[in-house]
Amino acid sequence: MENVVAIDGPGGAGKSTIARLLAQKLNYLHLDTGAMYRAVTLAALRENIDFNQQEKLIELARKIDISFDQKGEIFLDGENVSEEIRKAEVNKHVSQTAAVKGVRDVLVKKQQQLARNNKVVMDGRDITTVVLPEADHKFFLTASLEERARRRYQEVRSKNKDADFEKIKESIARRDKMDSEREHSPLKKAEDAVLVDTTNLSIDEVLAKMIEIIEGEVQ
Ligand code: C5P
Repeated sequence: MENVVAIDGPGGAGKSTIARLLAQKLNYLHLDTGAMYRAVTLAALRENIDFNQQEKLIELARKIDISFDQKGEIFLDGENVSEEIRKAEVNKHVSQTAAVKGVRDVLVKKQQQLARNNKVVMDGRDITTVVLPEADHKFFLTASLEERARRRYQEVRSKNKDADFEKIKESIARRDKMDSEREHSPLKKAEDAVLVDTTNLSIDEVLAKMIEIIEGEVQ
């Protein structure tokens, strides 16, 4: 599958930042699939849906309209929810939403369609294994839990919001566990994905490394 870069990895490994910059550099569309699971979760919170009611979540995922603009902002039924999908309440429930097979089926179909019609850099948890296993370029980005928590902490602090490092670390570890142990499309490294450990690398270093690999694979 040409013109497709697929990136997976746990939360806070730098996927979204790297995917966005890589997409800019290649002039591709950036598709943050985590934002789609977050949008379904936000819609469920707004409709007071119980997260144990799987049928209700599936019905909702089918009903709502999720779209992206060229800048990567995400829209839920036409409303820009890019900020709101990052709130703690969404963090708390998103892995529950993402564990529901019917919800995944709806979103995966959408993701595959977007990759057929655009040049994309897509990041998530199952992109290299399930959504786009035929992608030309496949990466698994990771970093130590401590470092991933530190990055999230700094991100929150940079927005002048209160943050508790230990709480952030716990929340990331909890999602890692749920995402890796779930029955459907768990987070795991595809055998043919290139592992990039970003713990001790700057964003520029990660980017340079990935571009070098992509260019090497093209030749
Ligand atoms: O990447 P982000 O942290 O925004 O993803 C939020 C959640 O969405 C993840 O913790 C995971 O439960 C789910 N997700 C998923 N499959 C994807 C992308 C995200 O299950 N492709």
